[in-house]
Amino acid sequence: MPARGSVHYGTTRIDYSIRPATRKTLAIHVFPDGTVVTDTPRTATVDEIAAKVKSRGAWVLKQQRIFAAYPPAIPARRYVSGEEVRYLGRQYRLKLLVGHERSAKLKGAHLEVTLLAQDGADVAKKLVDAWLRDRADAIFHSLVGSCLERTSGMGVKTVPEWRMLRMRKRWGSCTNSGTIILNPELVAAPKDCIEYVIFHELCHLRVRNHSAAFYRLLSRVVPKWEHLRMKLNRAVELRLEY
Ligand SMILES: [Zn+2]
Repeated sequence: MPARGSVHYGTTRIDYSIRPATRKTLAIHVFPDGTVVTDTPRTATVDEIAAKVKSRGAWVLKQQRIFAAYPPAIPARRYVSGEEVRYLGRQYRLKLLVGHERSAKLKGAHLEVTLLAQDGADVAKKLVDAWLRDRADAIFHSLVGSCLERTSGMGVKTVPEWRMLRMRKRWGSCTNSGTIILNPELVAAPKDCIEYVIFHELCHLRVRNHSAAFYRLLSRVVPKWEHLRMKLNRAVELRLEY
């Protein structure tokens, strides 16, 4: 079995890699950099794989177009003075200082992080991450409550369980048991964008999938959600490495 293949869909060539897997059906993945990977049953032939990719050609090209419209992923934080830190849609700069007590706080245009003389870069990382997590926790706590109040007609009566999890490719998700998961990196985004993600996950408490019914509900709750999603993706790039 060759490791790669390509098909033509209309005038566009789709290149893909072939990953034999223990599974009965073929799966196609499109990654943010536009690469296409197929997970194929070991019994599948080259022609079967090509036919399948071709039959999903419109979907593959659409995913590639969506990803192309996103800003490129930015590298992981370096935790050095002068580095950009975004918080609630505003841009701050990290300022590392040496003092007698460790701390992290916003001051003017800076996130000031005070380290002890003997501290290394790992401590700066710990303090910045803890500050972002604390802020995320407080902001999500308040916004989950206020968003729920604004969706009272939706029939979700009690504040849902929620927790934070750093995810590489998602701002939020909702588990089968109804726990909302929010990416703490969201604190970089403007408040209305954070609310949009929370509304999206609240709607999943009623409709778990992304069916037409889900989008009907979301449009009722947040009529401008498409605008907000675009604003979010323009405002904040998900960091691909943690
Ligand atoms: Zn969703």
